[in-house]
Amino acid sequence: MLAFIGTPENLQRLESIRTNNLALVNGSAGTRGLPVIVWLSYNVHGNESSSTEASLLTLHTLADPNNQQVNNWLKNTVIIMDPCINPDGRDRYVNWYNSMAGDQFNPDPNVREHAEPWPGGRSNHYYFDLNRDWAWQTQEETRQRMKMYNQWMPQVHVDFHEQSINGPYYFAPAAQPYHEVITKWQRDFQQQIGKNNARYFDKNGWLFYTKQRYDLLYPSYGDTYPTYNGAIGMTYEQAGGGRAGLGIIKADGDTLTLVDRALHHHTTGLSTIEVSSANQEKLLKEFSQFFDDARKGQGAEYKTYVLTTSDASKLNALKDLLLRNEINFGAVSNSNFKGYQYFSGKEENFVNEGYHIAISGTQTRSVLARVLFEPTTVVTDSNTYDITAWAMPFVYGIKCYGVKEKLDIRAEEQPAAITAINDGYGLLIPYTSFQSGRVLAALMKKNIKVRFAEKPFTYQTKEYPRGTLVVIATGNPTGWHQLTQDICRQHQVQPVGVETGFMDKGIDFGSPEMKVVLPDVKVAMVSGDPTVSLSAGEIWHFFERQLNYPISLINATDMPRASLKNIQVLILPDGNYRAWANDKGMMEKLKEFVRNGGKIIALKSAISLMATAGDWGIRMKDDKSSDKGEYAALKKYGDAEFENASSSVEGAIYKVELDNTHPLAFGYPNFYYTLKQNGPQYDFLRDGWNVGVIKKDGYQSGFVGALVKNKLKDVLSMGVQEFGAGQVVYFAENPLFRNFWENGKLLFVNAVFLTGR
Ligand SMILES: [Zn+2]
Repeated sequence: MLAFIGTPENLQRLESIRTNNLALVNGSAGTRGLPVIVWLSYNVHGNESSSTEASLLTLHTLADPNNQQVNNWLKNTVIIMDPCINPDGRDRYVNWYNSMAGDQFNPDPNVREHAEPWPGGRSNHYYFDLNRDWAWQTQEETRQRMKMYNQWMPQVHVDFHEQSINGPYYFAPAAQPYHEVITKWQRDFQQQIGKNNARYFDKNGWLFYTKQRYDLLYPSYGDTYPTYNGAIGMTYEQAGGGRAGLGIIKADGDTLTLVDRALHHHTTGLSTIEVSSANQEKLLKEFSQFFDDARKGQGAEYKTYVLTTSDASKLNALKDLLLRNEINFGAVSNSNFKGYQYFSGKEENFVNEGYHIAISGTQTRSVLARVLFEPTTVVTDSNTYDITAWAMPFVYGIKCYGVKEKLDIRAEEQPAAITAINDGYGLLIPYTSFQSGRVLAALMKKNIKVRFAEKPFTYQTKEYPRGTLVVIATGNPTGWHQLTQDICRQHQVQPVGVETGFMDKGIDFGSPEMKVVLPDVKVAMVSGDPTVSLSAGEIWHFFERQLNYPISLINATDMPRASLKNIQVLILPDGNYRAWANDKGMMEKLKEFVRNGGKIIALKSAISLMATAGDWGIRMKDDKSSDKGEYAALKKYGDAEFENASSSVEGAIYKVELDNTHPLAFGYPNFYYTLKQNGPQYDFLRDGWNVGVIKKDGYQSGFVGALVKNKLKDVLSMGVQEFGAGQVVYFAENPLFRNFWENGKLLFVNAVFLTGR
């Protein structure tokens, strides 16, 4: 739901303003007669409740026909207002708050109306942080909003937030690090807006700060994403987020009310419109210049990115992302070139692996393309708020060449349609990307018996690697052949027909190494306190909206009583399970479940539970801090921030060596790139399968604090421990990170369906 605010004349010609503004982006028209477009977004975090209240107040002011000042602004300014980006989160918070507060609000910070229960209202329905999703667009709210955003392309965008109650208010200019693509103009104008906001805050005696905490690097925020798309993108942070209710006593003894909070956001909103209106011409000119420079590829090392893989589905997933971000791609006409090969880190001749796409670094959206594709992000300051590495080739597991020349790019040929196969003995389904995982889940839901090869085989001179899915008549209902093909076609995966179970080389279909996927696998996940809601949400969303396979959520508090009899796979999301570690009954219950053939999948800190209690065979890595000398304990108070950074890894890319003969790594080459974040590290399993490990030279890109860097060597990334009749699958990193880490998704499918058969 958007509100458009303008003079009657501008509202009448709104569609022509929109198309002319897009022509400005595309370089096909000038700025003449165009208003500046200011887009105000509120309440992306649902429990930061003052922003939607502020949007109403601001709308009221802007709609007042007698307000001369506003009338003047609207002459050259069109405002687009999104009053609530995250309606589900806001509902969750507001309904909860209203049910907690009494007749009068209680400002004592200790009372229950200031202590939101799990999962809190910050995230959306599936517990995703929508302010981390702008570029990836995994969530429905983002997808719908971005369609509108791309049709409008504002010159100024503000994302209204709330921070801790003692904040007090933050506005632009942003903190370091800034991504190096951010232009001088974008930096300067942040300053101008900040000074105008400060004028009003000073006048009212309201406190604020600038240039601290909120940096401009990670591309999926409501400030950076618009910035990488030519706008002045900003975050405004009012004190109060998630706790303040109608009023709360702050550390300085004053009471902060909802009215105060809304008033501050109202003030900065109007101030932003004022300063944008006053700079309309310059804003439009610089905005247009931004895209002109983008089309020249100004400042970019690589003028073309070429990606290649033997798997069409992998490339399709990446194409979806590019399309959602309006980044154009095509095919190279001449494949005789050299480029920086991301996986080897060397300059190499291009080798086409079967399918490829080329992305021009000299297109309208090349700045965003560069941010998403450059192999290493330059980080000028280590104190950042989020992950520092996200290069798409690592995220999608697709080989990429960064090419310094501008290559000739033509339109892609239409991909070959999935061809039908006559009835026969069986069907082979290649197992090389998450798309094959989706096919598997769909077959399982239709009760089709699916086999998978634990050893490679050759049929009609073609070799089929481990993991290849096999569907044959045995054990399957009539119509299995057509049904299997239909499912493959729906997922754009080409099956191969076979006429016999006798293979030219390797295992035959009756071989003991041709395993059957357990039918009707029932998956459950622990949720609620003490799980991390974002982690639980990622898994929930993964099953429901991506894999389309049912999952049951069980509250952790109900686990002691819950029957696990009909469950085959139990997932423990990231979380702090310390209470269970001290609960012998609970630990015995989990062990019993595994001993009897169940499977536990434990993520990140959930593994600590097994490492600290019950002797499961996994151990934390010894935290032997190296000898730093006798004065190591003498730290300088003023350096605390720096000290924190040096012992943290917010998110960096590491290479994992994979044992792809183990089913957990089927469908992968012998390596995988993972996102390493803060959290405990684990030793190699002594008595289990170390399927993925980070060795001494595993570091790839992103900021890693000096103190942590040493510890991130020779650690377990993923492994499988057999225990009685069941197993425990460990993921020390999150393979489903924000559900945009595309190449981790098949690992999760393997963990659920293939391991332990
Ligand atoms: Zn926020």
